Amino acid sequence: HSSTPSVRTTPSSQVGTGKESLSFMRRRIRRLAVQWSAAARRLDNRLCSRWREQKRILVHVGFLTEESGDVFSPKVLKGGPLGEMVQWSDILAALYVLGHDLKISVSVKELQRFLGVPPGRGNCPLTGRLPFDLIYTDYHGLQQMKQQMGISLKKHKCHIRVIDSFGTEPAYNHEEYATQHNYRTNWGYWNLNCRQFMTMFPHTPDNSFMGFVAEVMNETDKRITRLNKVDSMAVVYGKEPSMWKGKEKFLAILHRYMEIHGTVYYEAQRPPEVPAFVKNHGLLPQQELQQLLRKAKLFIGFGFPYEGPAPLEAIANGCIFLQPKFQPSHSSLNHEFFRGKPTSRQVSSQHPYAQQYIGRPHVLTVDFNDSRQFEDAVHEVMRTQVDPFLPYEYTCEGMLERLNAYIEFFIFCHKQPPACWPPLSAMQLLLAQEGVSCVGSCQVEGLICEPAFFPFINNPEAFTGLRVHCEALEAEVNHIFPAVSVEPGECFLQKEPLLYSCAGVQAKHRRLCPCRDFLRGQVAMCKDCV
Ligand code: UDP
Repeated sequence: HSSTPSVRTTPSSQVGTGKESLSFMRRRIRRLAVQWSAAARRLDNRLCSRWREQKRILVHVGFLTEESGDVFSPKVLKGGPLGEMVQWSDILAALYVLGHDLKISVSVKELQRFLGVPPGRGNCPLTGRLPFDLIYTDYHGLQQMKQQMGISLKKHKCHIRVIDSFGTEPAYNHEEYATQHNYRTNWGYWNLNCRQFMTMFPHTPDNSFMGFVAEVMNETDKRITRLNKVDSMAVVYGKEPSMWKGKEKFLAILHRYMEIHGTVYYEAQRPPEVPAFVKNHGLLPQQELQQLLRKAKLFIGFGFPYEGPAPLEAIANGCIFLQPKFQPSHSSLNHEFFRGKPTSRQVSSQHPYAQQYIGRPHVLTVDFNDSRQFEDAVHEVMRTQVDPFLPYEYTCEGMLERLNAYIEFFIFCHKQPPACWPPLSAMQLLLAQEGVSCVGSCQVEGLICEPAFFPFINNPEAFTGLRVHCEALEAEVNHIFPAVSVEPGECFLQKEPLLYSCAGVQAKHRRLCPCRDFLRGQVAMCKDCV
């Protein structure tokens, strides 16, 4: 427990047996083993084999348990959401190659055994110490842990990390505040430090960006891919027939210029409801999908699914990703899919990460309602040559670097953490314009909001430093504070640390925003972070 774990360069493939979801994950871990091991070696060299503590880690994948309905396993072969499984496979592989002491549970029974809860004695406080330093789980798992641990969950919750694809904003996380101010969620109010929620893409920086990985090609494969690209070949993003519904108009335009391929699940007796000119391959194993993407020039999304891994895989295989811009943006206020999710985030396109962090020439985000724009984009795709591209943060090495830093530096169990991470030297303080969040204000300056810094700017000196003259100064519970009201210049400090929020925004206030720099291709880290 106290020794430095050596990185493991042979990822284990003993994860689970029997269930389709677990077989999918096992295949993925096995396929990526070589990339993980090479990345682990490179990171170890870069960190100069620095001493790290081996952590006892429990991974409890709640959504895969029978007790939560295990709604995914039966869908794995039918094109159901595979993104979650991609991410969990990669988290398991990363924790394993980082050398930690790992236990995996996919049932409540295993959870009980690992936590030391006697069978049949749920809702019973754990006596003694928690046998883990860290527990990675999801919202379903959190609920199950509450049932098993009863009130002792509160004592141990600083050890928990919640894998949460779309993110949880502070106003939705704080039970009393959310209830009083109508921040409704279907997922419960857990009063965690929001950085304990870990997302699939870097959404609001209030959460931590966990991510996943896509495969990178070696130089030989890149050369072969370049030679084999078919400029007139398109693959449609969408493995369920519902994702193609109502898109006939775009398919018809696209078909004028390109051969259209699909990977839509269908049952033998019933062919899928896609137009006859589409060459449908059925749902493909991940590896075969990669091969298809290596030939194709265009990967095109029609608006759903939101924010999945597939566009990054397509771009990594040398495709251009064409996707619709959402005007107005989709959010929990106006779209069924996001309703009840604990975030007010405005989703500006099918894949905002691709739009914002990658962009042209790899990503074209256009208004599909404008046929002219759509057609121009198709022309642009056909004449533009691109090389395969993958942001560093989605490589195995990037994910290992980030996760290792979180494990080493995120300390939520002490009232006063021993040191701030990211280091305070990275901080740049800003005064936001009225009605603009700290996410937006930092972004305009090419920076990112850093929630870890809020406690250091929640004081009168921060206002003075920004030349804000305060007519009055008060401390209140409000997720947009610290801030100054526009008229009159009344200054407010934050009274509830759980409500520090990068995402928060209100029309009549200017917020104090703690920003920091970030590394290109690794937004979770700053220059002084490494
Ligand atoms: N995928 C696959 N076969 C297919 C289509 C997709 O294995 O025919 C995989 C793909 O490689 C990706 C995963 O499904 O890693 C998730 O894809 P998507 O972006 O559609 O996200 P989801 O909606 O499933 O979370």
